[in-house]
Amino acid sequence: MEMSARTIVAGNWKMHTEAGTANALLDALVAWSAANPGHVSMVVAPPFPFLGMAVEKAGSAGSVIIAAQNCHQEEQGAFTGEVGVPMLRSIGVQACIVGHSERRQYYGEHDAIIARKIKMLLKHGLQPIYCCGENREERESGRFREVVADQIRKALGGLVPAEIAKLVVAYEPVWAIGTGLTATPEQAAEMHAFIRAELCQLAGGVAKEVPVLYGGSCKPENATGIFRGDEVNGGLIGGAALVADTFLELVRIAGAVKQH
Ligand code: PEP
Repeated sequence: MEMSARTIVAGNWKMHTEAGTANALLDALVAWSAANPGHVSMVVAPPFPFLGMAVEKAGSAGSVIIAAQNCHQEEQGAFTGEVGVPMLRSIGVQACIVGHSERRQYYGEHDAIIARKIKMLLKHGLQPIYCCGENREERESGRFREVVADQIRKALGGLVPAEIAKLVVAYEPVWAIGTGLTATPEQAAEMHAFIRAELCQLAGGVAKEVPVLYGGSCKPENATGIFRGDEVNGGLIGGAALVADTFLELVRIAGAVKQH
């Protein structure tokens, strides 16, 4: 199932929460979502052990989409400790983050592996949330556009337009993730327009509808300006997704900014 709205606010919980805190956070998000049906899709990516519980809770409201934070590129096999896409599908997970900079940096994931993960997700009907973005050195040296274009071409270049149309893309400048630094609204708007153009080169007109989210220390204090960018279709939120009120404030801001 795909996200119904083009404006999306997604929360990546990373390796945070335990059963009790995950339970409480999910309850708050699902309750708010049920009471406030709107034109923003809320996506929640808890750690693997809480995905089953999350799907169950979200199912009762039907408006929160549950995503995994990672998956393996093979269908199944002797890969101790890994999680396959068919497993995720079998419990009702609908989407999966791929190519997050922490996976690239700490687990050596590169775009060739990411491309295979995306194929596997699409094969099983899960929506990939593909992350790209330059690091600090690449931003400061001015090479950031080439870096992001290269990531996109390597990870998505093997897809046909109909597959690209099923993606969500997140622009996440690595220098802004978890650092408290954030892209200015102008920097975000420029890169989102650039990413849109790259996607259109690969896939033509269908790429105009692909949601492109901003991620990197996004919080209520800076979200309005960033979300105003024409090609910014919402946010992928890390730290600020761990507090229900803060995350819901970001959902409200995205809804207000994108309403007109
Ligand atoms: C992320 O990890 O996707 C992210 C955007 O994190 P943070 O909001 O904490 O910078």
